[in-house]
Amino acid sequence: MKTARWWTTEKNQIRCTLCPWECLLKEGQYGVCRVRKNSGGQLMSLSYGRPLAMGLDPVEKKPLYHFLPGKQVFSIGTAGCNLLCDFCQNWEISQCGYENESAYTLYSPEDIVKLALRYQAPAIAFTYNEPTIFAEYVIDIAVIARERNLKTLMVTNGYILPEASRDIYSNIDAANVDLKSFSNEFYKKRTRGELRYVLDTLLLLKEMKIHLELTTLIIEGYNSDTAKLRDEFRWIVENLGPETVLHLSAFHPDYKLENHPRTSGAVLESARKIAQDAGLNYIYLGNLSFTDNNTYCPNCHFLQIERSAYDIQINVETHCRCGRPVDYL
Ligand code: SF4
Repeated sequence: MKTARWWTTEKNQIRCTLCPWECLLKEGQYGVCRVRKNSGGQLMSLSYGRPLAMGLDPVEKKPLYHFLPGKQVFSIGTAGCNLLCDFCQNWEISQCGYENESAYTLYSPEDIVKLALRYQAPAIAFTYNEPTIFAEYVIDIAVIARERNLKTLMVTNGYILPEASRDIYSNIDAANVDLKSFSNEFYKKRTRGELRYVLDTLLLLKEMKIHLELTTLIIEGYNSDTAKLRDEFRWIVENLGPETVLHLSAFHPDYKLENHPRTSGAVLESARKIAQDAGLNYIYLGNLSFTDNNTYCPNCHFLQIERSAYDIQINVETHCRCGRPVDYL
């Protein structure tokens, strides 16, 4: 447990200023994320030093396809989340907190970096649950990681306020941000969040030159509407650029939507076509067994990276054979 970084006091209460909920907490109260608490008149981060999950994963699993392709990254996650998605595919850890605060093995930031180095991972990924809500731990790990020449990456819902975002991402190299829909109604009903904050985060990360990839989990009938997808993809092209990597991922029944059907390959392929027509150059499909997820040169269509599950064959170095620069290796 560590004193949190982003908060103010209001009368006898604490206002957390990390994410758009801006929870106002009385003594002993927890935030919506369940892992930040007013304890003794201070906001405390309960996640600090208490990872719930750690492992070595292909970076493609995050998913990041244009950042350290083919490498295994040391991944950690904690408990809780600041969105309440009823389709959450990681709900076992995202929808719990640290009710029994003493029942966890503690890992200092130095311990995490040492583990990553022991496994010869070139990067540390903050993933599995929402890293925004354990941002103090993220920053302390990332600072040491940089000193040891390790990269860091966030797999995030992008639901954060700009000031905290700048503090965190100035220490981070890459991010995959969920853009769950381009409909605020969807955000409010299915996640309890608001779209505009996520779009602001995307613009900020672009401005900060963080390597950025996006994921949209397509849930048939809920966020698969053609016109909305077109709006989303056009916004990405206009605001983040046509080179932005987009992952379209298939929903599988889970959590509160366990009776909703799995998204079909045909729906995903159709979304990919809409994204291509909008002008995006790199679109990959996730949670499907059979699909072409290779990287082709947008100019000459040369096969630059061949992917078969997590088997990666890289066929380019700094430039494609047509002369177009390859800036993601
Ligand atoms: S990070 Fe947690 S405590 Fe802070 S505003 Fe968001 S939900 Fe509330």
